[in-house]
This record gives sequence, structure tokens and C-alpha cells, in this order.
Amino acid sequence: METFDTVLSVKQFLANAKKKGKSIGFVPTMGALHEGHLTLMRRAKKENDLLAVSVFVNPIQFNNPEDLKKYPRDIEKDKALLESVGCDLLFAPTVDEMYPEKEVTERFDFGKLETVMEGAFRPGHFNGVAVVVKRLFNIITPDKAYFGEKDFQQLTIIQQLVKIENLPLEIVPCSIVREPDGLAMSSRNERLTPAERAMAPFIHKTLKEAVSLKNEKSPQEIIQWVINRFKAKPEFRLEYFEITDAVFLQSVKRWEKKVNTIGFIAVFLGDVRLIDNIRFY
Ligand code: AMP
Repeated sequence: METFDTVLSVKQFLANAKKKGKSIGFVPTMGALHEGHLTLMRRAKKENDLLAVSVFVNPIQFNNPEDLKKYPRDIEKDKALLESVGCDLLFAPTVDEMYPEKEVTERFDFGKLETVMEGAFRPGHFNGVAVVVKRLFNIITPDKAYFGEKDFQQLTIIQQLVKIENLPLEIVPCSIVREPDGLAMSSRNERLTPAERAMAPFIHKTLKEAVSLKNEKSPQEIIQWVINRFKAKPEFRLEYFEITDAVFLQSVKRWEKKVNTIGFIAVFLGDVRLIDNIRFY
């Protein structure tokens, strides 16, 4: 695996690879890699000639400075995991390398996609994501880029970014990878205490039970049911649970056969904020 920390050096390497006609599969990450990330990477490796991965904890997508400070980082462990999946190229730039300007002023407009859920509770988050992902796409010039449905709203925003900016690549959505007990894998899980980790599967369990109530309850009734379930567990602080359509991510009032729906949750367990989602159909 070749490791680069400057834009110029990675571009030179990639220009050579492109000359040889190699296709590039790209997985952008913030590091602290786990099996969820590695699943995306194995697929990218299989579907392309070269696997490129970026590890960059993007400061401008954090609206909470504590969250940024405490975000887990272990580049040496990451490198070993990347070698294990046959990663060809790691791009791990510094903040100054990604943002040479004093202040990032680029602004995107994702309309209603960014006014709900993560967009509502984390102001500026998706703009920060879009800025870094667009820059990474420009640097890596991938044929395909792989994103997890764990961050479904982010995936939708990236698909919109590709559309509005006419970016020449394919976005490949990948299913959520879970621990055997159902907890969605996440770098932030590392920050849970053993007691919190033992309680965390309650999130996915509740989502599954919510789906099983679909035939007897309306979306609003299910939302209230989930709220009540979390009220009974003081270790958790529910930020939101929403049921939306799968395209525009707007709340649905009733079940409609033709509209795919997803339940989205954000919940604090201790001081760790976890997100997850589940398809109602
Ligand atoms: P992150 O490092 O958290 O920014 O994640 C990098 C990429 O990995 C994003 O596209 C995430 O959606 C994806 N990802 C993270 N965790 C999972 C998971 N448990 N299952 C599927 N994809 C994931």
C-alpha cells in the first residue's frame, strides 16, 4: 500500500495509474476503521482495479468541538487493517493540506434534504461533509465511491451533490454492517463504557420492534411508541426518531404502498451520540 499525505503526490500516483487504464474504487473515511468500513473496501477492491481509501477527520463537519476532540484516532491500526483488505492507496492529509484557505466559504444548497434530522440537529454538518467529499473526489478522481447506508441521509446528500455538480462518478450504496447483537458498527462505539456497550443493542432491537408494529399503528403512533420506550430507559437520551420516505427524507403521515419508508434514530448513550436506521419496507 502506498501512503500519501499531500494532494500533489497522490495526484501524481493516480495520474500514472489512470494512464495505464486502471479503474479506481474509493472509500472515504474518518478512520478508527472497523468491519463496517472494511466491508465497503472489500467490495470496492472487487469491483475496481485499485482501492483508494482516505482517512481524514474532517473538522468542518463537526458542530460539536468536544465530539471532534474525542473522535477516536489510530492511524497505525488503520494502516494494518487497510493492508489486510488489499488497499492500494491511502490518502491521509493534514487539515492544512485539505483546507489551505483561512476559512472555508463554499456553500451548497441541498434544500429540504438538509433541514431534517442530522441536518436539523447538526447545523453545518452536511455542508462540511459536501465540501470535503467534493474535494476528495476531485483529488482521487474515482470511477466509483462507496458509502454506507448507516449514514443514509449523508448518502442521499452525496447522491444529490453528484447530481448538482455533475461529478463524473458512480455512488455505490452499501448495506449497514452490524455487530452480532445488532448494534450498527461505528467508530463512536469505541467510546462507550462496557456498561453502555451492553445496553446499546436496545437501539436496533427497538427499531426492529417498531417495524413489526407497522400493520397495527400509524407512523405517528409508532414514533410515540419509540419515544415512550426510550423514556423508560434513563441511560438513553433520544434526540429524534422519524419515519420518512426513502428519497426526499420527509416525514410520512400514513403508510402508502408505493412509498418506501425508513425509520431514522439519533440517541445519546452517555455522552456518545449514535445514529441508526431501518427500512419499514
Ligand atoms: P466514517 O468513517 O464514519 O465517516 O464512515 C466512512 C464510511 O463508512 C461512510 O460511508 C459510512 O456510512 C460507512 N460506514 C460506517 N459504519 C458503517 C456500518 N456499520 N455499515 C456500513 N457502512 C458503514
